[in-house]
Amino acid sequence: MRNIFDLKSWFRKPDDLLIIGGPCSVESHEQLFDTALELSQISQVGILRGGIWKPRTRPASFEGVGEIGLQWMQEVKKQTGLLTMTEVATPEHTDLALKYGIDVLWIGARTVVNPFSVQILADSLRGVEIPVFIKNPIAPDVKLWIGAFERFSAAGLNYLGAIHRGFQDINAAPYRNNPLWEIPIELHRLCPDIPIITDISHICGCRDLLKDTAQKALDLATDGFMIESHCNPSKALTDSGQQIRPDDLKNMLNSLIIKCKTDDSCEQILQEMRNQINKIDEDLLLLLSKRMGLSTQIGAYKKEHNLTVLQLSRWKHILAEHIAQGKTLGLNEKLVTEIFESIHKDSIERQL
Ligand code: PEP
Ligand code: MN
Repeated sequence: MRNIFDLKSWFRKPDDLLIIGGPCSVESHEQLFDTALELSQISQVGILRGGIWKPRTRPASFEGVGEIGLQWMQEVKKQTGLLTMTEVATPEHTDLALKYGIDVLWIGARTVVNPFSVQILADSLRGVEIPVFIKNPIAPDVKLWIGAFERFSAAGLNYLGAIHRGFQDINAAPYRNNPLWEIPIELHRLCPDIPIITDISHICGCRDLLKDTAQKALDLATDGFMIESHCNPSKALTDSGQQIRPDDLKNMLNSLIIKCKTDDSCEQILQEMRNQINKIDEDLLLLLSKRMGLSTQIGAYKKEHNLTVLQLSRWKHILAEHIAQGKTLGLNEKLVTEIFESIHKDSIERQL
């Protein structure tokens, strides 16, 4: 049997990628065992996931096998040495998951949107030393996500991780859920100690996009992945289009290019380049401040001579010129437009 993955030390130092694999839903004894036995042959996989209670958009769809599935998870852990993980949405779920020795819990995206539910779950785990992963809420609200961490942390849970699973958006295509990478990046900026893994399955919603999305997450320094894997995806009762067979998961993991987050030998050169950037940023700020000073003077002059603040034809002309000049300097149109629109907006506010 493989060595049990040491999740608590991963939380202390998440250097290696954490790979969580397993079916969207636990469906039957056979499906769980077939899938888990294959997954346990993939050295990178540390945790077996499986939904026991499924949050479905409409009732009367398959809503999970319930308690019996926890018993199967317990058996499969004994056989394979994989840690087990499931979603909890009510205190009854947490009690049962703990009763059957589930090792790790996750809080689903639909639960995290509701602070009442999050608080009830945090209270139900008060004083329990179990690792909990919190998915992003379906709405792109980083504060709501952070609020969930604060609630669990205040209840004494010390092993907390984030799962980025994308955001509901009518313009999400080609993804099922828009990844909005800037949101997990903002979470990392505000809470640098929380490891963040990427649930590429719920971001993509289809198998074709998984590999490129995983690579993108790696390039953005993800700490790991949650990936839905099923022994027979076309027969899966939930999320059939996005699950992959364990051997496809293995091939995909082996094809990814894993980059270092830091490397001492590169640090000095990077630092020199960062110093140059800092100097340029300082120059940009000085120039911007000079420009705004002039703009204020022009404002006073216009007022004195009874001229309108907005001179539309001049603004259109200079923006077009800046875009053209930017292009010759290798700057893209969107960047130049956004910068000058912000500058222009601030100028007008000053002159008013
Ligand atoms: C899941 O992981 O199967 C699930 C229901 O996820 P989410 O909460 O991200 O929709
Ligand atoms: Mn799913």
